[in-house]
Amino acid sequence: MGQITHTFSTKQINKMNKKYQHALEKAPQGAIFRARTSNAVVTAYASGKVLFQGSNPEEELKQWDPSGIPQGNNPFTVAKTNKNNYAPPETLFTTNHIGSDESGTGDYFGPVTTCAVYVTSEQIDHLKAIGIQDSKAITDANIQVLAKQLMEMNIPYSLLVLHNEKYNHLQQKGWTQGKMKAMLHFHAINNLLKKIGPAPYDGILVDQFCQPEVYIRHIQSENEQLPSTNYFMTKAESYSIAVAAASVIARASFLNEMDGLSEDIGHTLLKGASQKVDRLIAKIIQENGQGSLNAIAKTHFANTKKASAFL
Ligand code: MN
Repeated sequence: MGQITHTFSTKQINKMNKKYQHALEKAPQGAIFRARTSNAVVTAYASGKVLFQGSNPEEELKQWDPSGIPQGNNPFTVAKTNKNNYAPPETLFTTNHIGSDESGTGDYFGPVTTCAVYVTSEQIDHLKAIGIQDSKAITDANIQVLAKQLMEMNIPYSLLVLHNEKYNHLQQKGWTQGKMKAMLHFHAINNLLKKIGPAPYDGILVDQFCQPEVYIRHIQSENEQLPSTNYFMTKAESYSIAVAAASVIARASFLNEMDGLSEDIGHTLLKGASQKVDRLIAKIIQENGQGSLNAIAKTHFANTKKASAFL
């Protein structure tokens, strides 16, 4: 995520306003217009200042004034490698490194699980060969098989499970899910760093779920600091075998937790947050009362309200 401010003439701003007609959003107070493109949010002010904020502000500014791009900030390399200032070097994926990923954040039922994994360069080919990849591309049955194989390899990892009671408590305390995830990643990584001790690594890669600046703000709000060489990228599990392995362990843990909760409540809890989930919630409320949801569900999801249609 980057941000550039550039000053334009009134004539130019009018021209921009016209070109962005299709992409206009509600302008903040004092602004002439605000538009959102795939590169950036563009906000123009009466002073002539135009603010470009987003994943690729350079690219957006370039169309209007290429000379306005700050020196040393080549938009092509920025766009190619990653769209943030915390992009990992490409060499990271083939060397010793740490990766982290989470599971369960979009599921009404069940916890949020987060895992950080340490892999060495010698392990990478083997991990690829056994089929470690993005957990979303693996069936539930295979996830368990792969997670078991990772355990057997004694790959160092740290797994954190944020159970529903705690999740709901934090949510009611005002934590966003983003903050919960940031703290989970942070602690999983920290625990793993303690575990591996002096083992060398080239960097830490978090599968990006929010802008790095937001992640950093979250952990700073809990008086923590980003470790050095902590990188972020979206779809990191497609590039980093450590993130892919973390996604597998986190997913396997989520599935195990779901099995346990299903047994406790006497219903096979469904993944996701569909209308089928709403019907199941209604059934569970009828049988066990509303209060039973606190231990099995992320109760702030809209599903809790929607379930009342089926009561
Ligand atoms: Mn992820």
